[in-house]
Amino acid sequence: SVILYQDKFLQREQGLVDMEDRGYQFGDGIYEAIRVYNGNLFLMDWHMERLVRSARELRLDLPYSAAELTENIKELVRRNGIDDGLVYFQITRGAHHRQHDFPKGVTPVLTGSASEMVRDPDRTHGISSILADDIRWLRCDIKTLNLLGNVLAKQAAVDSGADEAILHRGDTVTEGTSCNVFIVKDGQLITHEANNFILNGITRRFVFALAEQLQIPVIERDYTVDELLAADEVFITSTGKEVTAVVKIGDQTIADGEAGPITRRLITAFSAEVERVKAG
Ligand code: PLP
Repeated sequence: SVILYQDKFLQREQGLVDMEDRGYQFGDGIYEAIRVYNGNLFLMDWHMERLVRSARELRLDLPYSAAELTENIKELVRRNGIDDGLVYFQITRGAHHRQHDFPKGVTPVLTGSASEMVRDPDRTHGISSILADDIRWLRCDIKTLNLLGNVLAKQAAVDSGADEAILHRGDTVTEGTSCNVFIVKDGQLITHEANNFILNGITRRFVFALAEQLQIPVIERDYTVDELLAADEVFITSTGKEVTAVVKIGDQTIADGEAGPITRRLITAFSAEVERVKAG
């Protein structure tokens, strides 16, 4: 496959990473994952906005403008002949003899790939989840390469035969290991506010817009594990999973084990937008 290395298109084997790259040694870098529908990048501007914010919060100087990056990523998609897929790219602070503080004069390193991702047209299958302690650091709003808290929770889910782990800090539900979590109660959507405890998902933001179109109220606030388990419906949102129902949490079945009516309305509205994007 063709990868993006800085602003060059290389074969994957040619994109060698320095062993002293700070992404490798410290997880000192940021990333984005962007969905491609029929060769078109979905919500690219929002992803770029978030990337710029992540870079600013880590005081990492982006080596390319959002416009340059967007052009290169479009080209990456084109060169790989991706129809429906996913672009992943990351930017590390660069390579330098190991020291914790920021080295002077290093150049950030960008690497990116694009791969096929088949979209299941029937979006109504629900997933199962476990609950897991949110042991991550206190800046979950930055999309950094440091994902060990997420990785361990996801593995705990897989080890217990579940698809996902819903994280909670004390009684408060935060998000999933790579998704945001919404509950539906009495016709309203409730999801954690976008503060330092969660990643402000692009899909989360898009679902806010869909909900507005559908006149479904959205409330951003802390909600508890008890509220989660007593919800009428639960769903997750992410670039890869779009809107997906959660129908089991631990031993407990949610919404009779199927995607509930509000989740289905959102899935239908989301699919309509995807068709629009596909049409170009
Ligand atoms: N929360 C976490 C921790 C994530 O890693 C992700 C995406 O990977 C999300 C939420 C969902 O974000 P998005 O909708 O931008 O994919």
